[in-house]
Amino acid sequence: MSGERRIAIVGAGLGGLTLARVLHVHGIASTVYEGDASPTARDQGGTLDLDRESGQRALLLAGLLEEFRPLSRPEGGELRLLDKDATVGLRIPPPEPGEGEERPEIDRSALRNLLLGSLPEGTVRWGHKVRTVAMGAAGRPTLTLSDGRTVEPDLLVGADGAWSRVRTLLSHADPVYSGLSFVDGLLRDVGTRHPAIAELVGQGMMFALADEKGLTAQRNGGDRIRVYSAVKVPEEWSRSGLIDPADPAASKKRLLDLFPDWDEQLRALIAGIDGPLVPRPIHALPIGHRWDRVPGVTLLGDAAHLMSPFAGAGANLAMLDGAELALALATHDDLETALNAYETPMFPRAEEAAALSAEHLTGFFGPDGLRTARDAFTAVTSGGAAR
Ligand SMILES: Cc1cc2nc3c(=O)[nH]c(=O)nc-3n(C[C@H](O)[C@H](O)[C@H](O)COP(=O)(O)OP(=O)(O)OC[C@H]3O[C@@H](n4cnc5c(N)ncnc54)[C@H](O)[C@@H]3O)c2cc1C
Repeated sequence: MSGERRIAIVGAGLGGLTLARVLHVHGIASTVYEGDASPTARDQGGTLDLDRESGQRALLLAGLLEEFRPLSRPEGGELRLLDKDATVGLRIPPPEPGEGEERPEIDRSALRNLLLGSLPEGTVRWGHKVRTVAMGAAGRPTLTLSDGRTVEPDLLVGADGAWSRVRTLLSHADPVYSGLSFVDGLLRDVGTRHPAIAELVGQGMMFALADEKGLTAQRNGGDRIRVYSAVKVPEEWSRSGLIDPADPAASKKRLLDLFPDWDEQLRALIAGIDGPLVPRPIHALPIGHRWDRVPGVTLLGDAAHLMSPFAGAGANLAMLDGAELALALATHDDLETALNAYETPMFPRAEEAAALSAEHLTGFFGPDGLRTARDAFTAVTSGGAAR
């Protein structure tokens, strides 16, 4: 309703961009401050499956669902669950043509570009890192940018991810290391260079789970497969001991040594990685993280409810948060009424997903991981919770 409010969004991730887009659809301008120098400054990571009720609903509200369809890969819904000897414990086939609309996969970079391309020129200010946030004397949030300039918006939205600066205005909570780290690597040209791996993985996701660790392989666009090796290590060891960016060959060997008796077909997933190995320690905010209203400030996505990826929900929820916050702002003239309308359903929705992802992390990487995962994925295909 009010097009006059100055809205500052910190972070051009999927959540912040969805917010800016849905605001734009309703004729409301906003400015997105992003620390990265450009849209291509960082690898955006693997693929996401967009849930009909959250990620796809956000795209519908953004007016982008039809443009999303040709970019998505419904066949990516295929799933295989293996033991460490490469025996298949569960196989969910790819959806039939014309089906698979429930959770089609899309490359993160394609999704982000779709959102970016839908915003008016200049909405995103690249290379504008927010250094500090504070409540100004007039009770208005104040941002200080890396170039020293300050911004005093009517509404400040922290869409700035796991290590959010904006969150410090609302909460003392910090992300806690889960004890599990991913090591992320890419195999390229798999059709020609790694046909056996392409066959093993199929068109979607493959999980191998045993000994409280795992190998996850995920089809990406461009004939690539992304491999996440999941290991329980102290957080600092995953950064400085296991993976040495200066010595990728030794790093790969150390990683392979963590899977000594796994089938060679599975070890080939690590051996075949030809780019860098990137450690991704898995952190989460406390389940049920929430805050008391502070006028003119709110959070969305990982800044509000960082969780492990084992409910397949983080990006989906970030997008839904962005879309619903925009709708609330378009509907209510009073800012605090709008923020209450957004936060009231968002808190329990995030709590439920965070509890599920924490339960999955403990179960999948516990002593009976394969069976726990099989039960969870079977429940998904019969209409249960998200993966
Ligand atoms: C390995 C892995 C796999 C995952 N798989 C899935 C999945 O299959 N499905 C799913 O739904 N979710 C998945 N997730 C979770 C998902 O990636 C996140 O939940 C999602 O990206 C959160 O989006 P966001 O917009 O809240 O934050 P982000 O994507 O983190 O974006 C935050 C943005 O803010 C910017 N920023 C940060 N600080 C500042 C600052 N001070 N000033 C300016 N800019 C700043 C950052 O540069 C970034 O661009 C996965 C996560 C991981 C780690």
